[in-house]
Formats: sequence, structure tokens, C-alpha cells
Amino acid sequence: MSNTPEHPELSALAPATVVVAAGRPDREQGGHVNASIPMNSTYVSRGVITSGELSYARGDNDAWHPFEEALATLECGGGEPGAGIVFSSGMAAIAAVFSLVPDGGTLVLPRHAYQAGMVLARQMSERHGVTLRYVDIADTDAVLAALDGADLLLVESPTNPMLEVADLPAVLGAARDAGVRSVVDNTFATPLGQRPLEYGADIVLHSVTKYLAGHSDVVLGALVTRDAELAATLREHRTLHGAIAGPFEVWLALRGLRTLALRFDRAQANAAELARRLVDHPEVAEVRHPSLPGDPGHARAKAQMNGFGAIIGVRPKARAGSGDQVRRADAVVDAVRLWLPATSLGGVDSTLERRRRWGTEATTVPEDLLRLSVGIEDVEDLWADLDLALRA
Ligand SMILES: *Cc1c(COP(=O)(O)O)cnc(C)c1O
Repeated sequence: MSNTPEHPELSALAPATVVVAAGRPDREQGGHVNASIPMNSTYVSRGVITSGELSYARGDNDAWHPFEEALATLECGGGEPGAGIVFSSGMAAIAAVFSLVPDGGTLVLPRHAYQAGMVLARQMSERHGVTLRYVDIADTDAVLAALDGADLLLVESPTNPMLEVADLPAVLGAARDAGVRSVVDNTFATPLGQRPLEYGADIVLHSVTKYLAGHSDVVLGALVTRDAELAATLREHRTLHGAIAGPFEVWLALRGLRTLALRFDRAQANAAELARRLVDHPEVAEVRHPSLPGDPGHARAKAQMNGFGAIIGVRPKARAGSGDQVRRADAVVDAVRLWLPATSLGGVDSTLERRRRWGTEATTVPEDLLRLSVGIEDVEDLWADLDLALRA
């Protein structure tokens, strides 16, 4: 890659530079400035394959490398380098990590977390006798107490969709001391918002679908780890389960990553401004965003994150006579004209949905909670549309 003499060591650069500079081809006269989209199912190979050699495109594929290198550089910062491993989706990455829990083993997980991951955990419990210990990830004592004898700790912070903030140094340090492997789903914060490996995580997980790719046009996932043995195990899982990404999708993700710093800055600033205004809105009962001084996660997010993310939780105020809060929340989603009524998050486009419309969402998530994914549009346009929808 691009660590040629005229190009400084990438890991020494600021993240906003890394997203632009990483994963470029070597510099040569007349050479390409962008990674190519190599289309191959197989590679020329003879005899015994040595490790690191390309042979068949399900096992390893040079189309993945520029993005994998860029993401690993971002998550590892100036510290010890690690390996990026791209998957066909965030769920494929979660499945690979969950495979580290043996039959009959124990998984500690947040009571609020990405719902399809929770469904997969329940299946592991039913089919493979895995014990699930649900914790409030913001309750550090509860997390520490649950670690005893566990095989894996799954952390989300901030959580989806409740935006609870875990004390990352405390829970990841405790897991390490207890000999429990830890994985942090860093989808909401992005590596620009926090680097869980620095707080002691063994693995960082991303739904690349969201902020990293950032344009609501591709489904992809990724893991990053500094543990070479673990990386080999996770890659083997990808190979054997065939959970591989297509060259074009990975290229789109790298293309999206180039503007991550700009997009995430803008989305976070928009979200903080909207959250601040929503607190005083006459039709709003509750707002969750870690930027708000009164939010339970505020102090922690301020201490361990760079920014507060761009996801907001909102509950509309009940109206006398309007009865059903579910219908009240659904009416807000129906009334927006600019915001996109859609699931998913992290795109340039602002989206919103009532989370409990999914039967798989945790029942401790309020029925009328709207999850807002704030994009990069003009904040006044976003506010005007939301304000009208709340008053409709
Ligand atoms: C979307 C999401 C996932 C799953 O990723 P896919 O790319 O949809 O498979 C995992 N974790 C979080 C926090 C997510 O938002």
C-alpha cells in the first residue's frame, strides 16, 4: 500500500486524513490514484499454496485489501497495527464473532442491542445451549458481575436504539482481567467517535452499511482485531461460511469512507442542534441524545467519545383524547416529507422509524420511541419538517 517514502506513515496521521489517504495504490508514474475493482474468482497458482498467497477468491481477495487496510488503520490509530476483515454484512461479522462462543458457553450481551444480533443470540441459546446474560451495558457493576465464567462480552455503545453509554475502559478492562473476550459494535460511534481497541477490546465490529459506506447504497460488515490468531479464526469462519463481500460493494465502501470525517462531523452537529431544540418542543415528551447535558450517558460520552453520534431517540407527547401512543408516533413518521421513513441509519439522508414496529425489538424499548438517524442536510430544513410532523 501507500507507505512509500514520499508518503508519511498512515498511522501517524489524523483520522480525517487517514480516511482520505489510506488504501491507495503505490505511487508510481502514471499509476492509479484509486483502488481498482479487480474481478476474479480465482488466481493463477501452482503447487502448494503458502499463506498470504491469493488462490481462490472466497478465501482471500485483493478487492478487499484497500478497505480492510483503511479501516484497520482507523481503528488501531497510532497504536499496534491490526487486521481488518470485511464481511458480506454486519450480521455476517456478528455471526463470525458469535462463533467464538462454544456450545454450552456463556455470552454476556446488552439488553438493548442491534435486534438481529439478539435474535441470533437467542437461536444459539436454543440450539447450542449457550447461556445468555443480559445486562444494562451502562450499569458497570452489573456488567462486571456477569463476566464470571463467560466466554464473550458483546458491547454496544451507544446502544441501538436506547443510546445507553457503557464505561468502555472499565468494562473492557474488567473483561480482559477476567480472561473474557470482548467485542465492541462500533457502528454508531465510528472509529472517528471512539476506538474501542484502545480501551482494551479484542475485536471491533462494524455494520459498514451505515456510516462507513454512508450513502444507503450497500450492505457490508467488518471486524478489526490486533490478535493474529483471532484474525485467522475469524477469516476461516468467513471462508467456510462463504460470508464474503463482492468487489464492487467494497469499492463503494472505500469510496464512501473518503468523506466519513466530513459527513460524520456534519451529522453529529445537526443531531446535537436538533436534540437541543427537541427538548423544548411542545409535542415532545422525551429526547435521548448523549450531547444533552441531562442525558444519562452525557458525562461518559464526553469523557470517552469524540462527539456524541448522530442518532436521536424521541417520544412524542401524548395528546388528550388521541389515546394510542403507537398511532401518535406512527403519525409523525407518516407526516414527514423530507426525512425518509425507513429503517437503517448512518446515510447522508436523514431517516426515522418507530423501532417497536419490529416484532424482534426488545420489549423494554418504549412502543412510541422514534429513532432518528440524522444526515447531512441543512439543519433548518430538517427542523422545519420534523417540527411540522410533530405538530400534525
Ligand atoms: C445495522 C446494524 C448491524 C447489522 O449490520 P448489517 O450490515 O445490516 O448486517 C449491526 N449492528 C448495528 C449497531 C447496526 O446498526
